[in-house]
Amino acid sequence: MRYAIISDVHANLEALEAVLREIDSLAADKILCLGDVVGYGANPNECTEIIRDRSCVTLLGNHDHAATGGTSIEWFNPHARAAILWTKDVLRADCAEFLKNLPYTASIDGAYLVHANPSEPESWNYIFEPTEALYEFRCFGQSVCFIGHSHFALYFVKEGRSCRAALPATFTLEQNKRYIVNVGSVGQPRDHISAASFATLDLPEGVVEFHRVEYDRRLAYEKILDAGLPRFLAERLLVGE
Ligand code: ZN
Repeated sequence: MRYAIISDVHANLEALEAVLREIDSLAADKILCLGDVVGYGANPNECTEIIRDRSCVTLLGNHDHAATGGTSIEWFNPHARAAILWTKDVLRADCAEFLKNLPYTASIDGAYLVHANPSEPESWNYIFEPTEALYEFRCFGQSVCFIGHSHFALYFVKEGRSCRAALPATFTLEQNKRYIVNVGSVGQPRDHISAASFATLDLPEGVVEFHRVEYDRRLAYEKILDAGLPRFLAERLLVGE
């Protein structure tokens, strides 16, 4: 069984289509989406439709929640807030209905899934440091948890009482260790690599692999400007920051 795990599509249709082509070429059996289908990009309806059709599990992200009236937007920075208001305006009712009813967490084949952090999924906290990850390991029982939210692909390994962060590289899950894997972002990477990010999990082998896919960033950029969304949101796609 090969799972493709994607997150933070952020209404970037060009990135999503390129990632799905790669997922198909890898012959993944199931797609899992960790949330933030919308927000920032110019194609929220198209991306929601595709995820609704193709993903077997989709979680709620903070932008999905805000764009459908759940989370207050006062905590969002001005660019994100502008994008949420724009998204709310253009999002079709059926798409809003789908996003609004997504769960915060899921468990599949021995893996735990959450958009932000296991300890308080509805608080949307980030996990950047091993000390933060160490706390989060106490809040789920599985040996591996897949997350998104920071748009930064990396993973944390816990062995005994210690925890370390590791940059993306293919690895095999080991019995005496536990893992929190951030799959990065499809539609707005911020780890200084502008190519779209996702991960695969092969079971029962337990192999986790990170993937980066080039896509038509120029087109996504132009669409953001044409939609009247903040220029910053278009420019950051070109640099992956
Ligand atoms: Zn996000």
